[in-house]
Amino acid sequence: MVYFAGMYTSADEKRLYDQAKQLLLNDAGSASDTILLLREAINYADWKYYVQSDPVLADKEYDDLYKKLKHLEDQYPEQVTADSPTQRVAMGLSERFPAVSHLVPMLSLENTYNAEDLTDWDRKCRELAETDELTYCVEPKYDGASVSLVYDDGNLVRGATRGDGVMGEDVTINVKQIKAIPLSAPLLQYGIRQVEIRGEIVIHKKVFETYNKQRIADGQPPLANPRNAASGTLRILDPSEVRKRGLNAILYSISDYTLADGAVRPDVLKTHYGSLQWLYSMGFPAPAREMKVFKTIDEVIAYCADFELRRDDLPFEVDGLVIKVNDYALQDRMGMTSHHPRWAVAYKFKARQATSKLLRVEFQVGRVGSITPVAKIEPVPIGGVTVSSVSLFNEDVIREKDLRIGDTVLVERAGDVIPYIVKPLTELRTGDEQPIVYPTHCPACASLLERLPDEAAWRCININCPVQVAERIIHFASKDAMDIRSLGAANVQKFHDLGLLPDIPGIYHIDWERVKGMDGFGEKSVTNLQQAIEQSKGQPLYRVIFGLGIRHVGETTAKTLASAVVHLTDFYSWNIEQLSALQDIGPKVAQSVVDFFARDENKRMIELLQTAGVNLINDHRGQRPADGALAGKTFLFTGTLSHFKRSDAEAMVEAKGGAILGGVSSKLNYLIVGEDAGSKLEKAKKLGSVNILTEVEFLDLIGS
Ligand SMILES: [Zn+2]
Repeated sequence: MVYFAGMYTSADEKRLYDQAKQLLLNDAGSASDTILLLREAINYADWKYYVQSDPVLADKEYDDLYKKLKHLEDQYPEQVTADSPTQRVAMGLSERFPAVSHLVPMLSLENTYNAEDLTDWDRKCRELAETDELTYCVEPKYDGASVSLVYDDGNLVRGATRGDGVMGEDVTINVKQIKAIPLSAPLLQYGIRQVEIRGEIVIHKKVFETYNKQRIADGQPPLANPRNAASGTLRILDPSEVRKRGLNAILYSISDYTLADGAVRPDVLKTHYGSLQWLYSMGFPAPAREMKVFKTIDEVIAYCADFELRRDDLPFEVDGLVIKVNDYALQDRMGMTSHHPRWAVAYKFKARQATSKLLRVEFQVGRVGSITPVAKIEPVPIGGVTVSSVSLFNEDVIREKDLRIGDTVLVERAGDVIPYIVKPLTELRTGDEQPIVYPTHCPACASLLERLPDEAAWRCININCPVQVAERIIHFASKDAMDIRSLGAANVQKFHDLGLLPDIPGIYHIDWERVKGMDGFGEKSVTNLQQAIEQSKGQPLYRVIFGLGIRHVGETTAKTLASAVVHLTDFYSWNIEQLSALQDIGPKVAQSVVDFFARDENKRMIELLQTAGVNLINDHRGQRPADGALAGKTFLFTGTLSHFKRSDAEAMVEAKGGAILGGVSSKLNYLIVGEDAGSKLEKAKKLGSVNILTEVEFLDLIGS
């Protein structure tokens, strides 16, 4: 079996890292030399970031290198090559995608669902291959959008969607935005003139989650699953939008290749395993580390069962495993049917789908007044949780799916993603189903609902609508906003109903004597609540901005806004042009921010917050200086800390340019361990690549 190391040796890696750092400071002699070195350094940084998930440069450093290259290429246009990283950036919009034929049809795989299916398949394989000496290669089946890539003379010349398997759409312009996909590779060195590589365009679960949060903040329904997000993005007409979405790729087969004149087929191209390791060694995002080879089907079956338990640990959505006969000569002997190859099979994990009955639809009022229809279904277990409520997002969704009360509906829940209704099973209708009647008046305050022409949601525009007020307070206190732990939805609702909490600033003026007399509020819980509220006064500005609940302003936008001012009230004098000049803020968001700060009741609320002692100043926490001593390093704290407060320590790290991660992964550099550290410590030890520090060692490291 042939093993390849990564694309770069550790000596290469050291050299390229130093090269990148050096280029940030100085050019290398001539412009043409500098251009070559910059390209090398940027390609290396892309590979580390997208293929290895292990960034080596701070975002700012990467951007600086890129700008430098762009600047030089603008000065010396004759030096621009098709595979320069700057050429990923496409100009303008693509009108539509022309249809192209695949070099080899993209067949689908036969599905199996249990050990018996696999045992049957194994028997057939040995008959067709006319041997018992089979080895099987097993790899994750990523849930994304299929893609075919063609490289001519080592250069990426075409990227196409699967389409109907014979013809796909030419999406080269968008594929080039995906930095995991190399624009060129040393294929000619191995005598390969043309090759077609197949794979899957995927989206990281975290990226998907962030993206959906933003969609919800923008009043759009979230996308159902990472697969839809990936395939939708691949067909967007604006390549710059594609670039923003942060797609990734996993390439899992060489479907066809042509040798150069006189070249001999490389040995690695005799097995599936060898060919993917080889792709990986050239910088392609092949699942080289996730592949396993087995000699018997029983080993394969055991591996499948074990892997299914760990499916949620992977950064990308996986819906099964693919098992392939490893030897290409045997694959050829076995051949294919018109639908699928005989030498490969998909083992599908248990579906996270179920059918249930749509009982009724409730209409909920959100904090900005939008009305959300929520389907109440007969409780049904899906992927380990019982689902009884499913959001329908807006009226259009109900119309498009033609949902009716009494319908049997197909419900899906992918990974940690919120459940959604795929479709009604219309063939099961009895004729007794009832249409869903959309309300004309607010269910909370009975005001007439409005719908703006360009919006999907109906809205209650009564600013004093009681449900909206309570929802705004709940949002302000929530984890991603001011993070007032004990002031959850239930307590806010209770206090609000009793008149103890009329509005957001009211959080800081609760009549505690009255609370102490209430059921379920002992001395200790009141003290905890008071403390949590007191601590929230020191939260960084972006949390306040996010907490205010300005329409279209999600967490990311709140950070952008916070970093642009010194004091929150600076926004009183900002106009749309100034706001639109900020990164990723479009006219719709800018308008919404201007409207918010123009309203007297909002100014009054901000004044009351200030009087209560809430921090409205941008102290530049959460902003990471690229030249800090900890730039490019990542940290995580776990266990009970006794030398400092976690939030203070995190702020110190960020002030020195470091970043805080949410969990233990190969991207983590330092885990700081307090008392009673649990699973995070175990995981870090298992990884072996994480530096584990005590609190004292951490203080030494940051020099305080
Ligand atoms: Zn209302």
